[in-house]
Amino acid sequence: MSRSSPFGSRKLPVAVLGATGAVGQAFIRLLVNHPWFDLVEVAASERSAGRSYAEAARWIGDDAIPERVAALTVLPCDPAKVESRVVFSALDSSVAGDAEAAFARAGRMVLSNAKNYRLEPDVPLVIAEVNPDHLEVLEAQRRNRGWRGGIVTNGNCAAIAAVLPLAPLHQEFGVKRVFIATMQAVSGAGYPGVASLDILGNVIPFIKDEEPKLEAEVKKFLGAMSGSRIADADIGVSSHTNRVPVEHGHTIVMSVELEKKAPLDRVEAVLRGWRGASDACGLPSSPERPLAVADQADRPQPRRDVDAGRGMTVTVGRIRPDPMFDVRLVALGHNIVRGAAGASVLNAELMAATGRLDQP
Ligand code: NAP
Repeated sequence: MSRSSPFGSRKLPVAVLGATGAVGQAFIRLLVNHPWFDLVEVAASERSAGRSYAEAARWIGDDAIPERVAALTVLPCDPAKVESRVVFSALDSSVAGDAEAAFARAGRMVLSNAKNYRLEPDVPLVIAEVNPDHLEVLEAQRRNRGWRGGIVTNGNCAAIAAVLPLAPLHQEFGVKRVFIATMQAVSGAGYPGVASLDILGNVIPFIKDEEPKLEAEVKKFLGAMSGSRIADADIGVSSHTNRVPVEHGHTIVMSVELEKKAPLDRVEAVLRGWRGASDACGLPSSPERPLAVADQADRPQPRRDVDAGRGMTVTVGRIRPDPMFDVRLVALGHNIVRGAAGASVLNAELMAATGRLDQP
């Protein structure tokens, strides 16, 4: 059952920074008819500022730009120009560092998709169903940095798709080591992103900085609050990341070594039964199930499974024994929705439902 709005009949005004890019456009789709949030401002680079959103954005997809958003004037990413107290950031990492800090300093709550602050010990890196308690570190963040607002991050798109199935395994059995290989969609590189002549009919076995991000973020997501900081989980992680000619959806194959040995049917039952933290259930963007286990031997597949749970469900399949580790499986997550904008919106809903966002 979905929860009633913590804001009653009023909606909380919100802005999107980097609103013209691939993730920014996903924010627009998710926020335009949101029951709790009112998308009132969009911002992007100086190239776009001053133009209407319809003129500035190269809209990707077959749907039309929502009328109300098409007419909004794009603002510069400056807290003196953007008034909303809650801002979703889909900014390029080259600018997110300074821009997001400026908004946090000016008293705004920033929900960021960029990599810049994810690994800072006083910045929460949150998947709502996995580690909502890490939001507690916001208090230390305010103390340490003297910000009136704050920054909450969601993870790298491949890390989120990997962590959702790893979380129940870690909670139940403890994960000792994990070997990860990814097949990542082109939309993960933004828009226009990878040149078509480079990726069509091809696989590129290199995504800049992706492997260290993935390895570090898995440990932080599965880590624990320790006093006023987040302590990484003691898990060995090795990864190979690849770009493949798929539009949306990162496929992640994993071999997992468990601390507590368990028969395969028990592992599968844990994955099937997991619903995530209760605080994250029944929010407007919560999928019915954060994880779905595919029964067919040849699933998940991006074309068939990427939109499960409106893009918020990670589909797991091919759960089988591993001759070197304990269990191996395949996970698929929508990189732009579950791996980016949808994750941020869900985190904001979680914060609103737990009294961490200002009233309208
Ligand atoms: P993108 O398509 O390249 O969009 C980048 C956005 O940043 C655009 O709105 C752009 O505005 C804005 N921008 C660029 N330079 C700027 C500047 N100097 N000042 C202000 N705004 C500026 O990238 P994306 O794929 O949407 O990714 C956005 C962020 O999310 C990145 O940090 C990325 O790493 C992260 N992320 C992406 C994914 C994914 O699957 N794509 C998943 C997780 C996280 P203009 O249009 O005006 O240039």
